Amino acid sequence: MAQYRHPDLESARTLIFVAWIFAILGFIADVFLLVLLWWTIIGAIFPIIGIWVFSRINNIKAALDKGDVETASKLNTTLFGIIAIFFGGVVPGILLLVAKGNIDRVTSQRIPTPPTPSFITETYCTYCGVKNPIDAKYCKACGKELKK
Ligand SMILES: [Zn+2]
Repeated sequence: MAQYRHPDLESARTLIFVAWIFAILGFIADVFLLVLLWWTIIGAIFPIIGIWVFSRINNIKAALDKGDVETASKLNTTLFGIIAIFFGGVVPGILLLVAKGNIDRVTSQRIPTPPTPSFITETYCTYCGVKNPIDAKYCKACGKELKK
């Protein structure tokens, strides 16, 4: 994929990778919390969301490693970054939000610009049939106005 070496994509990959490393630590802590506190509702919900946050960061990382910016962009939303700050850790959450800016720049630049139809360069005079350049206003042979 040509966009794979895009500098914004490369920095997004680095940011997500660091976020992923921190998220692993959070994931381990969440598993411990879940084992210790599963019998309390609050104690169980927090690590379950934390584990979900980790798996989503893992999916974002996998998508970026494949160069799949669209999937990474869909998964790494602002809302997810905020949820990650609360349930996955401040460091991975902020890194996700910074990486989102990079990913958005890559996706916005990927919108293809339609090519201008430069292949039509000539037009024919409807009065005398002489070939004229497309941008000509009057026929070079008979001088009549060219219809567009
Ligand atoms: Zn003419």
